[in-house]
Amino acid sequence: SLPTIYFITPTYPRREQAAELTRLGQTLMHVPNLHWIVADDNQACNDMVTKLLKKFGIPFTHIASPMPEIYRKAETIPRGVANRRAALNWIRKNVKSGVFYFGDDDNTFDLELFDEIRDTKKVSMFPVGLIGDYAVSSPVLKEGKIIGFFDSWPSKRKFPVDMAGFAVNIELLLSHPNASMPYKAGYEEDQFLRSLGVTIGDIEPKGKSCTQILVWHTQTTKKPVPVLKFRTRPDNSLREL
Ligand code: UDP
Ligand code: MN
Repeated sequence: SLPTIYFITPTYPRREQAAELTRLGQTLMHVPNLHWIVADDNQACNDMVTKLLKKFGIPFTHIASPMPEIYRKAETIPRGVANRRAALNWIRKNVKSGVFYFGDDDNTFDLELFDEIRDTKKVSMFPVGLIGDYAVSSPVLKEGKIIGFFDSWPSKRKFPVDMAGFAVNIELLLSHPNASMPYKAGYEEDQFLRSLGVTIGDIEPKGKSCTQILVWHTQTTKKPVPVLKFRTRPDNSLREL
C-alpha cells in the first residue's frame, strides 16, 4: 500500500492566514494517503483554523505550539521552528512509518511532488523555485548522484537547501531520537539534516533527477493591520474612533 505522507505546516495568525490555508488545503485534497499536521504558532488551537481544516475532508491533526517569547525579540526570528518541532514530536509519539515533509502555508506545490517524495527511503531532495537571488535552489547531480548544491546563500552550510527542498522517511527520524531543528534563522535545514546523520551519499534525487521545479517558495505581500479611523454602525453610518 501507499506510504502515508505527513505534511507538516507551521502557521500563525495574521490576516492572510485563512486565504493561505484555503489554497493549500484545496491542493492537499487531491493527494491520497496524506495526513496534514497543522502546527499553530499560538497559545491554543485557533478555532477558525480548526473549522477551516474540517472543510477539506482530509485527515488532519491541529496542534498548538507558540514560539517562545525570547525568539520573537531576536534580530532574525526563527519562524516556524517551535511549531515544526512540536509536529516532529507528535510524529515520534504517534507514527511508525511513512514520509514527512515541511510544507509552509504560503508555498505552492505541484501535485507531482507528492508522487516523487512518497517512496523516500531515507532523505530525498529536489529543486525549489523562487529562492534567493538565483530564483532556484537545487542539488547538483553527476551521473545520477548528488555531488553538491546550487544556492544563492551557501554560507558554509553542509546542506544549503530550503525547508521545502527535502523529504524524510519517518524511520530515519525515529532512529535519531535527538534530531532537532535549531532556533537559528538560516541554519534550520542544515542543522536539522546534520542531526539526522545525513550524508551526501544518502540523498535520493527527486523531481525527475532534479530537472523539475515542483515546489515554489511563494510569498504573500503582507499588509499590516491599519489603524482604523472609522467604524460602521449597524445603520451603515460612520462613527469616528
Ligand atoms: N510562521 C510561524 N510563525 C511566525 C512566522 C511564520 O509559524 O511567527 C510560519 C509561516 O506560517 C510559514 C513558515 O513559518 O509556514 C515560514 O514563515 P514565512 O513564510 O513567514 O517565512 P519565509 O517563507 O518568508 O522565509
Ligand atoms: Mn514563506
